[in-house]
Amino acid sequence: MSAVRYRITPIHPEAHLFEVELDIDKPAADGQLLSLPAWIPGSYMIREFARHIVRIDARDGVRAVPLTKLDKHTWRAAPCDGALRVRYEVYAWDLSVRAAHLDTTHGFFNGSSVFLMVHGCEQQPCEIDIRPPAGRAYKEWRVATTLPEAGGRSGAKRHGFGVYRAASYDELIDHPVEMGEFALYEFKACGVPHELVVTGRHDIDAARLCADLKRVCEWQIRLFGEPAPFERYVFLVMAVGDGYGGLEHRSSTALLCSRNDLPAPGAAAMSDAYRGFLGLCSHEYFHSWNVKRIKPAAFVPYDLRVENYTRLLWAFEGFTSYYDDLALVRSGVITQDDYLKLLGKTVTQVMRGSGRLKQSVADSSFDAWIKYYRQDENAPNAIVSYYAKGALVALALDLTLRSKSRGAVSLDDVMRRLWADHGLSGQGVPEDGIRRAAEAVSGMKLKRFFDEATEGTDDLPLDRLLHAVGLDLAFEAAGSTPVLGVKTANDGDNVKLTQVLDHGAAQRAGLSAGDVLVALDNLRITASSLDTLLKRRNAGDEVKIHAFRRDELMKFRVRLDAPPVDQAKIGPAVRASAAAKELLKQWLGRG
Ligand SMILES: [Zn+2]
Repeated sequence: MSAVRYRITPIHPEAHLFEVELDIDKPAADGQLLSLPAWIPGSYMIREFARHIVRIDARDGVRAVPLTKLDKHTWRAAPCDGALRVRYEVYAWDLSVRAAHLDTTHGFFNGSSVFLMVHGCEQQPCEIDIRPPAGRAYKEWRVATTLPEAGGRSGAKRHGFGVYRAASYDELIDHPVEMGEFALYEFKACGVPHELVVTGRHDIDAARLCADLKRVCEWQIRLFGEPAPFERYVFLVMAVGDGYGGLEHRSSTALLCSRNDLPAPGAAAMSDAYRGFLGLCSHEYFHSWNVKRIKPAAFVPYDLRVENYTRLLWAFEGFTSYYDDLALVRSGVITQDDYLKLLGKTVTQVMRGSGRLKQSVADSSFDAWIKYYRQDENAPNAIVSYYAKGALVALALDLTLRSKSRGAVSLDDVMRRLWADHGLSGQGVPEDGIRRAAEAVSGMKLKRFFDEATEGTDDLPLDRLLHAVGLDLAFEAAGSTPVLGVKTANDGDNVKLTQVLDHGAAQRAGLSAGDVLVALDNLRITASSLDTLLKRRNAGDEVKIHAFRRDELMKFRVRLDAPPVDQAKIGPAVRASAAAKELLKQWLGRG
């Protein structure tokens, strides 16, 4: 029996409360320190999960043991004789993949939200007894997790309540747990059992989804080389009305999606929403290698109390974003045309934010904690996404390697090298490690490429690189309606400015985020009329706009802009050499 044991029970699903009892056989002689992480790996923001601990007490046998709070997430239990039992309640009402969620329909938790770390025992194995809620209403509930079952008499059976185990605290918090009456679908990829667990009302063409996922998973396993780095993999999917999110773990992923993203029974075509969902699954699955095992040195080990800084998220998130859609086309799940549309969207997304001219992807990575994860109304003017631009850096690197080596070397070789040098060994990737791996596999000098692409803010030379593989990149305007240079949100019938883009018509006139638009040339602006009103004007026209700011009516003279030419289109080049066509086939062809 382990010296550290957790027992977690959904004691009041209707009040969203888990109870956790933590038994420590040999607490530290000078007082036992206990803490909850401030963040969860994969989501780079301080979230201070300890704020959801509602009450906590400790005993040794019959006697109460005083607990002293030392900082926002750490407690010290006073020295005691014998074993220590700490009992606490955790409020779980965060409908995301990052924390914990419990109601009368299901329970979900990440260990980082519910399991106190026992200082000094982080590297020791522990047991986790997962209990069902009391009452007949819950008798059909099951458990889905990749925590290993403990074995023995009290050990949980697959998908059952009972005792599970983890080899360390790091492992304990890397296997999220779902409980409830979920749907379970199974398939094998390269012989490895995979499960798809879907919570929430849904109707789904499960056979199609499993068949598509199988192809994507097998392509990824073969990219890095068999065997897969896990014995079993679980996709935990929470289907809701409107939601989106994913978080990677070592042998599972937690996903949040709209139920309409899932393929409907009988639907023949692939919807954009379903393609997006497959992209999300592919993204999190790729993380099983890239970030869960090939990790930045800054994450080895994680320090869960404070921010962990690295300038490399463009490689761990950006390269993963590049491969998520690439895996779909190369496994044959989507067509090459569809892939080029998705790639065009990523280029458009990057081009639409002037933040790309101010922040490098390396800076964006470093400041993820205070910028990318805490975006405000100024985000497009100040921040570049290390996901989207990072994917373009991957594209630029891949095409550079392929064209310069005439097809002999690609980013796939870089990923396999990283896997061999850092994934299998567990040795973190130093801050210059991506460049070094790319130089090692290609024999090319790439310092200038990396400096410009990851530390610089100039646009990447994608038109030239795409041309080398027989593709043309062109930009066009999205329609002909003149624009204000804003993002808006509808608040009932009112139109509110949510973002005002740098140097745009609205910003030049003095309009600000938060302003509620009232009228354009004395005609009322509503959610449905704004576009019509703008359509009747031309770029260059000056219009009068009334808006409320702090409930004060204000008037602005706005000179309308032409729609920006920022929508990327990627398609076959009119004239492409045979060599370029061959490179394209190698890049996007099946296999
Ligand atoms: Zn990711």
